[in-house]
Amino acid sequence: MKTVFVNPERCLGCHQCEIACAVAHSSSKEVSLALWEEPLPRRRIHVEPGPTYNTSFANKCRHCNPAPCEQVCPTGAIHRQQDHDLVLITATKCIACAMCAMVCPFDVLTYYPVAETGPQRVVAVKCDGCVDRLSRGDIPACVEACKAEALVFGELNELLKAGRLRESYAVVAATTMMEGQAPAVPETVHAWRAWGASAEEATQGGGER
Ligand code: SF4
Ligand code: SF4
Repeated sequence: MKTVFVNPERCLGCHQCEIACAVAHSSSKEVSLALWEEPLPRRRIHVEPGPTYNTSFANKCRHCNPAPCEQVCPTGAIHRQQDHDLVLITATKCIACAMCAMVCPFDVLTYYPVAETGPQRVVAVKCDGCVDRLSRGDIPACVEACKAEALVFGELNELLKAGRLRESYAVVAATTMMEGQAPAVPETVHAWRAWGASAEEATQGGGER
């Protein structure tokens, strides 16, 4: 099953994914019109500060299986859509009790009015995997918007395999570059980043992206 894989090392914190997400969940699907819609369409991906200085992490629903949110929802508003293996919320069944937020291990639930229930009623809102776009054969809006390739859509094992391959190319290139010198092991995160950047430069065209 395909999923959106988040690569925090590549995230620039530009928030383009959040804008694309909100527009994809608007009625108009146009950024200039979406801003004036009532209720305002909301993002379902949240770009948050990363664990170290100057890093970011795009946080979103992992569509867990089994999903704790689905298990605790008292009204049956949360269900698994089998075709795309996504955890979805039926807004009209939600009573905004926040049980789902209490058990979600990733803090991805928010509460806002949505078009299905009208501006007066707040309901649980989270990533729906862009299920409408997937049904049309498109990729999720956040992935399409991310030009840094911090968000990638594909089979999880294939994506992880491609990542391992890329890293091994970088290691080989970096050690070759040193031409017999003992490789210096970086001591900090920033040094590792600089090391990775120079290794990647040396492997331009050598690894799968
Ligand atoms: S909302 Fe949280 S608990 Fe529910 S499927 Fe998404 S990540 Fe898992
Ligand atoms: S807030 Fe809505 S979706 Fe979440 S547990 Fe309550 S009824 Fe279910």
